[in-house]
Amino acid sequence: MVKSEEVLRPVKDIGGGANLPHRKNTAEKESVMMPPPETVVIPMQQHIGAPCTPCVKKGDTVYVGTKIGDSDKFVSAPIHSSVSGTVSGLGSLLLPSGQTTETVIIQSDGQMTPDPDLKPPVVETLEDLVKAARDSGLVGLGGAGFPSHVKLNVNPDNPPDTLIINGAECEPYITSDYRECVENTDNILEGVYLLKKLIGFKQVIIAVENNKPKAIQALNKLVENVIGQDVGVDVSDDEKTHALYKVATDERDADNSVRLMRLKSRYPQGAEKVLIYTATGRKLPLGKLPSDVGCMVMNVTSVSFLNKYIKTGMPLVSKTVTVDGGAVMNAQNVIVPIGTSISDVIEFCGGYKSPARKILYGGPMMGNAVVDVNMPILKQNNAILVLDRKQAEKRVESPCIRCGRCAKACPMRLQPLEIESALRIGNLEAVKAHYADYCIECGSCSYVCPSKRHLTQVMRMAKAELRNKK
Ligand code: SF4
Ligand code: SF4
Repeated sequence: MVKSEEVLRPVKDIGGGANLPHRKNTAEKESVMMPPPETVVIPMQQHIGAPCTPCVKKGDTVYVGTKIGDSDKFVSAPIHSSVSGTVSGLGSLLLPSGQTTETVIIQSDGQMTPDPDLKPPVVETLEDLVKAARDSGLVGLGGAGFPSHVKLNVNPDNPPDTLIINGAECEPYITSDYRECVENTDNILEGVYLLKKLIGFKQVIIAVENNKPKAIQALNKLVENVIGQDVGVDVSDDEKTHALYKVATDERDADNSVRLMRLKSRYPQGAEKVLIYTATGRKLPLGKLPSDVGCMVMNVTSVSFLNKYIKTGMPLVSKTVTVDGGAVMNAQNVIVPIGTSISDVIEFCGGYKSPARKILYGGPMMGNAVVDVNMPILKQNNAILVLDRKQAEKRVESPCIRCGRCAKACPMRLQPLEIESALRIGNLEAVKAHYADYCIECGSCSYVCPSKRHLTQVMRMAKAELRNKK
């Protein structure tokens, strides 16, 4: 039990947001490895930034981890084969984002032979770390897809002082980060200590929502094992408030600056701006980066992967994906070779329980609809939701009753109703004056609206109009 004096300081409350049903149906199921599919289709654009150009051609032999695409631009990330086999051709694909990308199509030999040239990198300096992150192909695995080496390339003379490890995973259904915390705790902690040492953070906050007690216990247990001191958290206590706990001190954390933060379960707790404010009280202004307020935010699975890469030299070739929804037979977390089709993944999960009416890349709040089940799993996919008729029911709008719930729910303190009204009459000055471009597209306003107004779509349109006007 953590004593009250161990709570280091009050933390900020998100304000707004929405209480969503968690529906974490897969939380207690161990992740299962999917066998290699016959074919993978690997897009050359799986990240924010410049697309890669294929560096293989039809007929080439590739192994698991062989580089198949790269770019000479800094904001990009190389792409590697997820299976061993033969390149059967190059193609193109329309992504849900609307971008068209080149693809490399690989016929698997079923052997999953690792590339014999792979070896663990030597990482002793910040420069080594940045190079390793790039070579690994790592991008933000929480869904953002931002190349991690760009984020890690800090000014060594003035690095951010705070590292926040994002384990909030606040969308319903998704449990892949949670499983990572439970199944690969040691990799997460080792990765945290490595980042702390090489970048020189003054504090590290590992942030996990309080609906994941086993993840919190696992993170504490490891520390307990390392130092032989029980700093366990009674997770049934203090359910309603944020709490920040000392984790522990060991030789990797001599200044005792790694903390575990138990967050209230309230969507969208894991959104970057919200998390920075919750964890540190710092506000991230529009157009600024977390480093501008002295922070770096890393997804918990990204940190775990980076540590695994440094130990093994195997780049990012697979992804743990939560497969759930009323229309899929066996909901579970599946470790999927990147480029595997959604239909292969659903088949691995036992196929359809009922007709699928909608398939989402990601969660129900921020996920993108997929129109073709042959679409491949991408690096930044953390979930595939296969929704049945009831789950996919269209929201029929009715007139606004001016109840104000949308504004109350907005974590950015916006007035979605006013922005909708201004956009409807084409008053872009008013749209701007209501700070529409601060919207993080979290969907909380739409979720709470009793008139089922499509406010998030309106906010996206408002932001697009403001961008076009510039
Ligand atoms: S929540 Fe819906 S009904 Fe209420 S004020 Fe906002 S838009 Fe209108
Ligand atoms: S206006 Fe934007 S940030 Fe605010 S609740 Fe709606 S979607 Fe989220």
